[in-house]
Parts: sequence; structure tokens; C-alpha cells
Amino acid sequence: RVAVVGSFNVDHVWVAASLPRPGETLAGDYRSGPGGKGFNQAIAAARAGAPTDFICALGDDAGGALARALAHDDGIALHDMRSDAPTGTAGIFVGEAGGNSIVIGPGANAALTPAFVDAQRAVIARAAVVVVQLESPLDAITQALRIARGAGAVRVLNPAPANVAVPAELLALADVITPNETEFAALLDAHAGERIDATAIAALGDDTLHALCRRLLPHGTVVVTLGAAGCFVSHGARRVSEAEHARVPGERADAIDTTGAGDAFNGALAASIALGPGCSLNEQLRFANRYAALSTERAGAAVAMPTAAQVQARFGD
Ligand code: ADP
Repeated sequence: RVAVVGSFNVDHVWVAASLPRPGETLAGDYRSGPGGKGFNQAIAAARAGAPTDFICALGDDAGGALARALAHDDGIALHDMRSDAPTGTAGIFVGEAGGNSIVIGPGANAALTPAFVDAQRAVIARAAVVVVQLESPLDAITQALRIARGAGAVRVLNPAPANVAVPAELLALADVITPNETEFAALLDAHAGERIDATAIAALGDDTLHALCRRLLPHGTVVVTLGAAGCFVSHGARRVSEAEHARVPGERADAIDTTGAGDAFNGALAASIALGPGCSLNEQLRFANRYAALSTERAGAAVAMPTAAQVQARFGD
């Protein structure tokens, strides 16, 4: 099983001719739908084929009811802390020329407590893979990884979003971290004293990238996602069965919306590790690339997550 501890948001999206300036009122097309990195990753893990638990905090409102209904539809076992705060929201303005402005209302997500996570000990302990992100309180997700370590689960930290500082203790609890280029640059700055331009990362030599990853997470596996280029993986000393580092090329996709590509990648990777312990991590990363590539061919985040059968039909073996 996969257990995801993380956020649920109701995304409200307005697409207008331009982004509103201060004091300006515009009309635009509106849509709303489920989001939040935790929920997106749980949906991806479930549709990729893994029995999935999702631990989160929800308000007693329409957003909370939506989360419950959608988790049920996808067969996800939901373990929600009921909060007095409203269910998390994101207000997203998209200008037709591209670009966006986003305000997140963490609401109930910010109320998730280590005590509630601790009460889900049995759920976390039966998972083969436990996944956390940084849209939930750090003490709560740290508690989740501590329980997972005690139970011998594979611990995946998706260090997103990039503007949340990752404490050294949390980083040390991870077996696998999955930063995108921006997040990798932020982690290197904070934990390895290295200032690197995020846009230059994909062009670094493999040995240089590997050395940076080793300084960041000496004991564990670092997977840097590189957008359309796929990902780079650097293994800690303990994995002796694979090359120490590799690039796993991305799949060619007709991308129309890359929102949630990272979430698709993380959920699919977690499912793949949970379902195929005999498979090499590099094969699992290939599946995660394919899964995420297909998610970019559909609009939206959680609603864009494909099934394993759709990935198979699109990309074959
Ligand atoms: P994030 O969405 O967190 O910024 P990335 O942009 O690195 O993360 O994308 C995550 C993964 O999604 C990549 O490793 C890749 O597998 C896949 N992906 C993203 N964009 C594309 C694309 N345009 N074509 C194919 N695959 C993509």
C-alpha cells in the first residue's frame, strides 16, 4: 500500500485576457476542481494501481464533502482530521498570454497535527511506501516519516513547494527525495551551501549533479525531475545493484497543461515502488516519467491523472 500525508485544496481558477491589476475588476472563464499536492499524489498513486491511504485535514464544509466523495470514487481510504477551519483553497488567476497569480488559503491543511498523524500509526505502518510534501505542517509530516521509519516503509519526501524551508531532521528521515529544479536549487542553498541557478541544473554534467546530490542526502536517493527531459537519479551508497547515477529520459508528450506533473510523477513512483519491490528503481522512474507525461496531455491536476492501463495504451511497455 501507499500512504500519502498531505494537503487537499479546492482550486478556483479564473482565466481572463490579462491578470488583474490592483483595483481592477475583470471577467473571465471560471472552473473549480480538486487540488492540493497531497491529494493529487494520492489520486495518482491510486490510479497507478496501488491501494492508497490519504491522511489530511478537512473543514466541515462543501470542500470537505468534495474530498470525501472524490476519495471514495477512486477507492482511496481517507483518514481526515475534522478542522474548524475551512477546507484548503487556492485562488488562481490565469492570463491568456500565459502566467498566473495564485493565493493559497491553507485553512484546514495548516491544522493537521502530529497527534492526529500519530493516531493513524496503524495506517502508516501497514504501508510499503509513505509520501509527504510541504503543504502540511512540518511537525505533522515529520511525525509521519518517523512512524514510517519505525515500520520499515520506504519514505518519500517531495520537497515542494520550494519556498518552504526543509529542516535537517526532516531531510534526514527521507529515503528518497524528489525535488524539481527550483526545489533542488533551494535545498542545495539551504543544506549544502551551494548557490546554483535552477535553470542551469539540467545542463550540469552527470558527475557534477551526482556529487551535489550526495552532499544533499548522503544516505539516500535523490531524484531531480527535469520537466520534459525526465529525471536524474543519484543513489546512496547502500544501493549496490544499480549504477550510482543515471538520467531517465522523459517521454515525448503533446503537453497542454503541466500543472500537477510533479504530483503525477510522485504518486506514480510511490505506487510503482509499492507494487514492484523486485523492479529496479530506474524502471520505476521510467514508469513515473510515462505516467507524468500522459498527465500533461490532459487539463487540470487531480482530474488529469491517468490510469495504469491508459499509460500502457499510450506508451506500451
Ligand atoms: P513540477 O511539475 O514539480 O515542476 P517537472 O516539471 O520536473 O516537475 O515535471 C515532473 C515530471 O513530469 C518530469 O520528471 C517528467 O516525467 C514529466 N513531465 C513534465 N513536463 C513534461 C513534458 N512537457 N513532457 C513530458 N513529460 C513531462
